[in-house]
Amino acid sequence: MTEAPLHDTLIIGGGPAGLSAATHLAFHRRDVVVIDRASGPLRYTTTPLHNVPGFVGERGVDILKRLRGDAEGAGARLVRSNVTRVSGQEGDFTVETDVGTFRARTLLLATGVARHHPRVSGRFEPWLPYAAKGNTYYCPDCESPEVLGQDVLVIGVNSPVGAASVALTLSEFAREVRVLLTDSEELDEPWAGRLARRGITWQVGEIAAVEGKRGHLDALTLADGTRLTPEGVFVVGPKTPRNDLAVQLGLELSEKGHVKTGWRGQTNVPDVWAAGDVQPQTQQVSVALGSGNIAAVMIDQTLTRLGLRDLGREVTEALAAD
Ligand SMILES: Cc1cc2nc3c(=O)[nH]c(=O)nc-3n(C[C@H](O)[C@H](O)[C@H](O)COP(=O)(O)OP(=O)(O)OC[C@H]3O[C@@H](n4cnc5c(N)ncnc54)[C@H](O)[C@@H]3O)c2cc1C
Repeated sequence: MTEAPLHDTLIIGGGPAGLSAATHLAFHRRDVVVIDRASGPLRYTTTPLHNVPGFVGERGVDILKRLRGDAEGAGARLVRSNVTRVSGQEGDFTVETDVGTFRARTLLLATGVARHHPRVSGRFEPWLPYAAKGNTYYCPDCESPEVLGQDVLVIGVNSPVGAASVALTLSEFAREVRVLLTDSEELDEPWAGRLARRGITWQVGEIAAVEGKRGHLDALTLADGTRLTPEGVFVVGPKTPRNDLAVQLGLELSEKGHVKTGWRGQTNVPDVWAAGDVQPQTQQVSVALGSGNIAAVMIDQTLTRLGLRDLGREVTEALAAD
């Protein structure tokens, strides 16, 4: 059996962090492959983003399209697949995917975090037509001003304290804030008191049905028959780092499961970097873009130490003939 070719860099994850790194490395004539299973948040976000410099007012899905186009335009190869296994060490890593095996001198993990959706009659699928569309938001640090002057519902998914904390933040923007705690969670003190002092009501309940059209959520009906018709909805739940591959490589993790790195994205394993939301850092597109870029600069320098850049025979031959 012939061995897979040894690429300069394999990037696992094609969100803003992975694509930013791919663009830098490919522009610097590195042979770079991005493997992505296309489950990142921007792919499904049809609300406009307002805090990403250079992209203000653009929809997440369009930003992602532009980033993919930039990476491909620079010469990166984008592969749509799921990475199931990573092994190897310094200078030679093997990555197994649904579409075959890849090898590379260096690795960048940019796998992001998994977010939880509310369940409707026990299933999360009925929620998906509204997730990050129309009037449904997931990122209070990015999107709180979207609900200025509105009647807002905060839905806690396995996260009563998180939901209460977001409700307090949103109360600075919204006209009225209510909290719905799903999964039979209760809210303890001091959070219940904090909400009461701001006039924020909360209840425990299961969502039985949702109504809306073209991504706009019009109403939710709870299992006890209560019908809620908020103007805006924020979903608050745990964000679980996608760290299964990091575990396979023996990368050091933080208490919450993020990949621990130095500020340039270097991990405890030589020639492996991490960037974006999978690092313990603020989860924003511009931060992911920046961290991908920092890691790419370091990877490029490491590749220079590992061997000469392949600038293409025709260039070197033309120079030699001069
Ligand atoms: C609804 C929503 C709205 C948001 N709005 C804003 C906003 O307005 N402004 C802002 O700055 N930020 C916003 N964010 C946050 C922002 O989207 C993230 O911070 C950013 O996408 C992180 O980029 P990333 O590249 O680290 O990870 P991601 O974008 O999550 O990309 C990771 C990629 O890795 C892939 N992957 C993971 N594991 C594997 C594997 N084993 N094999 C192959 N591929 C894999 C995933 O499929 C995914 O495509 C929002 C987030 C959400 C959920």
